[in-house]
Amino acid sequence: MKCYICERSCTIQERNTGACGLYKNQGAEIIELYPNRYLTVCPISIETMPILHFYPRGKFLQISTTGCNFKCNGCISALIVEEMEPKSKALRELSPQQVVDEAVKNDCIGVAFLLNDPLASFLTFLKVAELAKKQGLLVGCSSNGYFTESSLAKISDYLDFINVGVKGLSDRVYQSCGGSTAEPVLRNIKKLHENGVHVEVSCMLKRDNMQEVLDLAGIIAEISLDIPLQLMRFIPLEGADPSLEPSIREAETLYLSLRNYLNYVYLFNSPGTDYLNTFCPRCGEVIYKRDFYGPMGAKLTFPETGSGQKNICPHCDWIISIKAPPAETKYQEGDFEGGYPFTRALEMIEAILISIGVTDKKSVVQVWEEVLGQKGLQILHHGIQNLETYLETIRHFGNLSKMENKAEDLVTYMEEKISVIKDGWPALGKKPRVYYVMGKPLFCLKGERFENQLVEAAGGISVNKEIECTGRPGMQISVEQLNALNPDVIFISAFLSSSVEDFYEECCKIGINVEAVKNMRIYTYPAPGWDFGSPRWILGLMHIANILHPEIYHFEVMAEAERFYKEFYDMDFSLADLNRSFSKPSSKWNWKN
Ligand SMILES: [Zn+2]
Repeated sequence: MKCYICERSCTIQERNTGACGLYKNQGAEIIELYPNRYLTVCPISIETMPILHFYPRGKFLQISTTGCNFKCNGCISALIVEEMEPKSKALRELSPQQVVDEAVKNDCIGVAFLLNDPLASFLTFLKVAELAKKQGLLVGCSSNGYFTESSLAKISDYLDFINVGVKGLSDRVYQSCGGSTAEPVLRNIKKLHENGVHVEVSCMLKRDNMQEVLDLAGIIAEISLDIPLQLMRFIPLEGADPSLEPSIREAETLYLSLRNYLNYVYLFNSPGTDYLNTFCPRCGEVIYKRDFYGPMGAKLTFPETGSGQKNICPHCDWIISIKAPPAETKYQEGDFEGGYPFTRALEMIEAILISIGVTDKKSVVQVWEEVLGQKGLQILHHGIQNLETYLETIRHFGNLSKMENKAEDLVTYMEEKISVIKDGWPALGKKPRVYYVMGKPLFCLKGERFENQLVEAAGGISVNKEIECTGRPGMQISVEQLNALNPDVIFISAFLSSSVEDFYEECCKIGINVEAVKNMRIYTYPAPGWDFGSPRWILGLMHIANILHPEIYHFEVMAEAERFYKEFYDMDFSLADLNRSFSKPSSKWNWKN
C-alpha cells in the first residue's frame, strides 16, 4: 500500500516500513513505530520557533521527537533526526493527555511541534493537536510542508499556525532531500492559508539560490502579500559546502529586493541586523524589534510589554497583520532551550567526543542519553563557561565514553598552551580593551560568554563585561554605547561572522569612531569554530594572544592547527573544507561506524 503521511508516498509492503523508517504497513493500515516518545518538551517563546506574526512573545510548549521524512544535506537538526534513534532512552514517553497537562501546568497558551518534522510523528502529533484544541490551547508546528492532501486535511482542522520551510523551487533541491518537487509544498501553503491557518514561510538562502528565493517571494505574494517570509541565511553545517554561505551583507542586499514583493520579510542567522524587525509596509516605522536568538531563532525586544500595542502603525495607521498583541510577560528559556540551541548543545558534546577519538555514532548517542537523563545540559552549560571547567568537561566525557587516555592527551595539549600564555602574564604591559561581537558591529556578546574568557586569558580587558546584557547569546547595543566603550581591538565571532571589510564599512556608515576602527584593529579568525563550541578554541586562544600581545606571544597558529588535526582528528588540516559545524572538524569528515 501507499503511505499517505507525506508526498514521498512510499509503497510499503505488508510488515515493512517506508523510506523514513518510522511507519509500518500492518494489516493494510499505516501505524507509527515509535508513538508518544519525545526528545524535548519545554516551554518557549514563540519567536524562538520561529513564528513572528502570531501571539508575539507568547509562551508555548515545544515538543519534538526524532526522525524526518527528508534527508537534507547540511541539516541543522541532523543530530536529532539522523543520529539520535527513535528507540533511544533519551526520549520520554508521554501520553497526549500528559503533553497537554504539561502545557497547562506551565501556563502555555499552546503547543508547538518543532526541531524535527511533525511528519515524522504524524499520528502522535494528530492526537496531541486534537486534545490540545479541545482544551482551548493553540496548536502549531514547523514543517517542511510535504503533507499529502489527505494528511493535510486531517491536521488542518486543529492547526492555528505553521512555519513551512521551503527548500527552494527546483526539482533538484527536493530530489536531493528525498522528495520530488516543490509543488506539494506550494499547494499546501495555499490551502493552509485558505483554511485560515496562520502561515509563515521560511527559506534557506544560499549563494546559489538567490533567484529561486526571489521567485518564491513572487509566488507567495500571489497567495497573500501579508505572509511573512523568513530568510534563513545558510550556515554550512555537517557535510555542507562552506562556499554556499552568503555574507550578512549579501543577505541584507537580497532582503531589500524581497521587500518589493512582500509586506513582511525577515533575515535570520545574522546577529546585529535590523532586518529581524517589523517595519510598517507603508511608512517604514519600526513596529517590533527583535534580536538574534541562536540559529533560526529570534527574541522580541520591543515593545517591552503588550499594553497599548494594537498592531496599528502609530505613524500612518496601517494595520500590521499580526495576530494578537504581544504577551505582557517575557519568558526566559532554560539553558539551551527554545528552538535550535538544543541541537547546538548536543553538537558541543559531540565535538568533544570526536576530538577524543570517538568515531562511531552509537557511542555519541550513549553519552547524549547519559547527559540528557540527568539535568546534564545545565551542567554542560556551566562546564563550558570558562577554560578550567571546559578541561574538566573533556575529562568527564572521556570517562563517559571510556576514552580517558585520549581525553587526557587533549587536556595535556591544551594545558600546555594555556600555561605558555600564563607564563607571559607577568610581562604584560597595558592591557588592550577588547570588544567581542557576533555578525554586525552592534551585536554585543554577553559578558559571561566563553569568547570573553578567551580574551581575558590572552591578556585583554573584555569590555563586553561592562555592559549589562540581557539577551542570549547577546544583544544589540547602540552606537553611543559602543563609542563609550571605546575598545582598542575588536574580534568578530568565528561562528557567525562578517568579513573585516564589510564590518569596517558598516562601522563607518553608522558612525562608530572607536580606537579599534580608527586603527583598523578589527580581526576575524583563520578558520570557523575557533572560539566556541569545540575544543578547537585552543587554536583561537593562541590567535588572540598573538594579536593582543605580539611582543610576548609568537605561536605558529597554522602549524598548531595542522598538528591538532593530525593528532586529534587523524586528518589533514585544509582551510577549504572547513565549515561551521562545531563537531565535525571538516566537511570531509565521516563516521567510521
Ligand atoms: Zn506606517
